[in-house]
Amino acid sequence: MPSSADERIARLEDLFASLPGLGPRSAARLVTELLGTRKSTAQAICRTLADALECVHHCPQCHTLTTQPVCDLCADRTRDASVVCVVETPADQKAVESTVAYRGGYFVLMGRVNPLEGVTPQELGVDKLVERIERENVREVVLATSYTAEGETTAHVLAGVLKKRFPELRVTRLARGLPSGVEIEYTDVATLSRAITDRR
Ligand SMILES: [Zn+2]
Repeated sequence: MPSSADERIARLEDLFASLPGLGPRSAARLVTELLGTRKSTAQAICRTLADALECVHHCPQCHTLTTQPVCDLCADRTRDASVVCVVETPADQKAVESTVAYRGGYFVLMGRVNPLEGVTPQELGVDKLVERIERENVREVVLATSYTAEGETTAHVLAGVLKKRFPELRVTRLARGLPSGVEIEYTDVATLSRAITDRR
């Protein structure tokens, strides 16, 4: 453990700066605020984070975050287990659910494939998806990643992995007609509904 205040501060700054979207400057400002003017917020973050780390884990089926042994959606026996819709985030999953056009299961990547930042399909739990396709006789995987550069890369890489492993599997993509560059979660319900129905 570091001993002086400077060493402690430097260690904290390094930790924050290692998070996506935070550079060294914003990390330094954050640490100054947390230790200086926002001590009670810092304490609340510590307690809440410790509690969340203890209780929240990946659903063994769909990879989303849950406090249950299996998340509510995976526990719902009325869903069609032969279709799995792959989304980037829980917010995207919520968007697809809100269309009511889809009644299958989900796989939530909790991120995107990014070769430059070393985010591989394995890191996003794809082995879990492969096991599930085998175990549950999944017939179709719908790749509902965004039509952004990273979303497209993710769909392309996943399609490659799945087609190689399961030549018979139907791998579909949400129909074009979704605006390019827009995240799934910000697409309006009618457009998303049509994109699901017209998937190919
Ligand atoms: Zn689940």
